Amino acid sequence: MNSNSLLALTGQSWKLVAGVVLLLAGSIAPLFEASGMSWTVGTVVACVGYAFTLLAVRCPGCGSRWFWQAALDAGLYAPIFKGSACPACKRDYRDGG
Ligand SMILES: [Zn+2]
Repeated sequence: MNSNSLLALTGQSWKLVAGVVLLLAGSIAPLFEASGMSWTVGTVVACVGYAFTLLAVRCPGCGSRWFWQAALDAGLYAPIFKGSACPACKRDYRDGG
């Protein structure tokens, strides 16, 4: 992951990782009987992972939920992953905020 991304600069990369892990686990684990995870549980786990990422990743400055906003406007993914400033309040975190 780009260490200069907005997520890394604000220390929130782990939230994306955790959400993706849950999303994948809930989507894939039910395929394997040995996992003991039913499709119902898998769907819940996947939804929780997705919702967690949408709701937990926020701008430390203005509280804007970046992935929630990006879900509504896909053009915001670029600044979240490549930029260093909040798309909402324009606060730049490259120099520690
Ligand atoms: Zn902001």
